[in-house]
Amino acid sequence: MNPFRFEKPFIQPLVHPAVQPENKEVDVLRLDQLDPLLSGNKWFKLTLYLQEALDLNKKRVVTFGGAWSNHLLATAAACQRYGLASAALVRGERPAKCSQTLQDVESMGMQLYFLSRQDYGQKKIPEQLLMPTDYTINEGGTGAYGVQGASTILDHVDKHKYTHIICAAGTGTTLTGLINAAAPGCTVLGIPVLHDRQAIEGSLKNFICNSAVKWQLLVGYEWGGYAKHPDALLSFMNEFYKQTSIPTDIVYTAKLFNACIRLLETDFIGPGSRVLIIHSGGLQGNRSLATDVLCFS
Ligand SMILES: *Cc1c(COP(=O)(O)O)cnc(C)c1O
Repeated sequence: MNPFRFEKPFIQPLVHPAVQPENKEVDVLRLDQLDPLLSGNKWFKLTLYLQEALDLNKKRVVTFGGAWSNHLLATAAACQRYGLASAALVRGERPAKCSQTLQDVESMGMQLYFLSRQDYGQKKIPEQLLMPTDYTINEGGTGAYGVQGASTILDHVDKHKYTHIICAAGTGTTLTGLINAAAPGCTVLGIPVLHDRQAIEGSLKNFICNSAVKWQLLVGYEWGGYAKHPDALLSFMNEFYKQTSIPTDIVYTAKLFNACIRLLETDFIGPGSRVLIIHSGGLQGNRSLATDVLCFS
């Protein structure tokens, strides 16, 4: 089943002052362009879970997420298209006015339950809430199926062409899928967007099953931590959009592309390299900003 608006994600060569095409080739896989709601890596991480929910004859998908969660938006939209009900556990009390993202998922039929920070932290689903016909998915789609689904991202590219593949890492699920699917000899780089590198490494090491590729988490590009977005990052996003017409988000892809530019400028990624950057989509975080901050939306 292909629920996308488009058949295939497209690949765009990165035209930017940091790339001298005569000595480095850099492509961007525009997963952000797949679909307005199922954008980016989230669909790939969800697909096998949803298939299992259908196979087990489950009626409702229950998952976790924050106020500006790309995962909740993708889950709500995918469930709607698959004819499944959906529900989400959200951290904190229900605010007087929900974020635009939460309003959108509610309008797609997703039921929201607000959990205390403590219960949320333990990912505890209150018993009275869960029904036998519910199917739960971890926050961000982490887990074996998430990794396996993410590995199919590389089915859409000629993966033998690339010496390096780079992506943003939240839970690291997408990164792990890419590592497992990359061609022998390739180097896969993850740019963590939160400080807890050990949590990422811990959760992904169990799932890595490809020793023919090198991989590394490159720290130092977190900009203060998860969803933190100093003015300099916002300026980078506007500048980068003017240079490339590529929109980025404050949580993941702005930090990813900024890291890529810096890595291309230094010779960490050396001459002769052929690089694939995964634009993992998901622009929900930008909706938390005032409307005049970014020159694109
Ligand atoms: C969720 C998300 C990520 C992080 O993916 P993980 O598999 O959790 O590492 C990266 N980019 C975007 C746009 C996302 O929405």
